[in-house]
Amino acid sequence: MSKETLEFQAETKRLLDLVINSIYTNKEIFLRELISNASDAIDKLHFESLTNQDILENNSEYEIIILPDKDTKSITISDNGIGMTREEVISNIGTIAKSGTKAFLEQLKDNGETTEELIGQFGVGFYSAFIVADKVTLVTRKAGQTSAVKWESDGTGEFTIEDFDKESRGTTIVLHLKKEFTEGEDNFTDTRTIERLIKKYSDYIRYPIKMNFEVTDKEDESKKTIEVRTINSMQPLWTRSKNDIKTEEYNDFFKHQFHEWEEPLEIYHTKAEGTFEYTALLCIPKKAPLDLYYSNFEPGLQLYSRHVFIMDKCKDFLPDYLRFIKGLVDSPDLPLNISRELLQQSREVRKIGKSLEKNILKQLAKMLKDDRSKYEQFWNEYGKSFKIGIYNDAFTGQTANDLKDLLIFQTSHENKFATLAEYFGRMKADQDKIYYAAAKDIKTIEKLPQMELLKDRGIEVVYLFDPVDEFTLEALHEYDGKHFQSISREDFKLDDEESKTAQKQIDDLTKDNESLLKDVKESLKGKVDDVKLTSQLKSGAVCLVTGANGPSLTMEKTFEAMNNPFFKASKILEINPNHALFNKLKESQGKDNFNDFCDLMYCQALLIEGIMPDNHVELANKIAELMTN
Ligand code: ADP
Ligand code: MG
Repeated sequence: MSKETLEFQAETKRLLDLVINSIYTNKEIFLRELISNASDAIDKLHFESLTNQDILENNSEYEIIILPDKDTKSITISDNGIGMTREEVISNIGTIAKSGTKAFLEQLKDNGETTEELIGQFGVGFYSAFIVADKVTLVTRKAGQTSAVKWESDGTGEFTIEDFDKESRGTTIVLHLKKEFTEGEDNFTDTRTIERLIKKYSDYIRYPIKMNFEVTDKEDESKKTIEVRTINSMQPLWTRSKNDIKTEEYNDFFKHQFHEWEEPLEIYHTKAEGTFEYTALLCIPKKAPLDLYYSNFEPGLQLYSRHVFIMDKCKDFLPDYLRFIKGLVDSPDLPLNISRELLQQSREVRKIGKSLEKNILKQLAKMLKDDRSKYEQFWNEYGKSFKIGIYNDAFTGQTANDLKDLLIFQTSHENKFATLAEYFGRMKADQDKIYYAAAKDIKTIEKLPQMELLKDRGIEVVYLFDPVDEFTLEALHEYDGKHFQSISREDFKLDDEESKTAQKQIDDLTKDNESLLKDVKESLKGKVDDVKLTSQLKSGAVCLVTGANGPSLTMEKTFEAMNNPFFKASKILEINPNHALFNKLKESQGKDNFNDFCDLMYCQALLIEGIMPDNHVELANKIAELMTN
């Protein structure tokens, strides 16, 4: 095919513009980006070769070669990895598909940080070449194919692509350096500068990074020979001893290996020996990905056998509730040449997975104990995952058992996070339930009329804000023998003597007002399922509770949001007989305004729950009427 000139995608153009025009301080990152691409390309080739030997064309000596050149003022990076077809070059290099780079552009929109800082955080992959080069030439041949292509661009808006000859598979990238990078401090044509950068950023790359060095003869200084040396130690980070690895090394590795742009919240590096051997490097990213709970999210760990990459996103190591963990497992016990499906089901994978799961939970328990604020940070990002995990495994209850002591909830005790054990420890001597309230925020819960009495008695209440919380507690069922009790359900009662006496009074009053309650119920038919007097209210006049079983009001909202309007909560209107409103209600029984009175009481109860009454316009009119009478 003849030479084509194509335009970069609009987003890419913008990015290139930023890269080229920013006076970026950390110019050297281009090398680490291009070397990491080269290493990825060799990984891909190696992976293919496991099932297709032919693709290697009898050359399995993987290598990355760097050639700085003073004469042509360029630096060349070559690899003998998988290479790219013409179409792949156009789509991989011409467009931005990478999520990290997309996120970078998003951040730019609404962030005060400067472009330079952001490029440093994200790394802009291949495009970082244009930080130092005013022209980039890429020649590539896909492994197993005969035709190669040449791609070229000055990064301003267009690139050219044409057929080309290339003897061996892989990719060669020539950076024609801007003048300022061919002299002085940032001279990227100088082998010493390059050697230092490779040692600094790319030492752990698993394939040899080779460079030509000019060696002067010891006896005759005018005699010079060229020597090829491998610069990196090629020792994968995870195979080194923990004590010798600096935090920055871990962080850098994490960012690179998993295409992350922020350092992780936590890193676990463990080795196991004995019946089965493995090394694992696991990380908790600081931020949960936006699609963590979507079905197209692909969890999983990278898998290595004897330091050789076998597969990405191996799902069966960790349970679903740990889907946010990123990392890798390297084990000599894993078979190299079997299919993905068989490998995932293998006994070794399951065993290693179990041990990793245990380990992670142990580490998290430690974090909860030793570094509460970090744990809360973790919880804000991933707590939901644990809660969903417990709910989804309600049948066996195993997950609930494993995770119950890692759950934290905000409670009425100073509005801080508490574990269930901490709540348990603060329970009153005669308290035999764990009380909880669900609403959208603290303010709403604190104003629930039922809260008043609990506060008076100094009883702690667990706050639930996430729609999944109530489902989780139902799945948990109990903690250390104490059942969970919603303060918004019909069966909510305090158990102390005072409350028991109050309840007796209510029972008597209920008998005395039987016909009144019947009339209110009749008037609110279709809106509530029952009307009762209650002793659980102090200054509040009314409240709305749900039946002891079945969906709660918040659950009903969740079901509605999921387009499932059939799971309705059974609603019970509770009236405080000690409130002046009750006497007014009595007075209006049998009068014209009785129905209005009942409806207004019901609407009040709805509003307290944060539910908008259906007839809100009518309600507003009625209030106006009341105010003017
Ligand atoms: P990322 O590496 O995060 O995917 P880059 O911008 O660094 O993003 O690279 C974009 C894509 O270009 C890569 O995903 C890969 O498909 C392709 N690519 C880049 N360099 C090479 C290379 N040396 N060999 C083969 N493919 C490459
Ligand atoms: Mg890359």
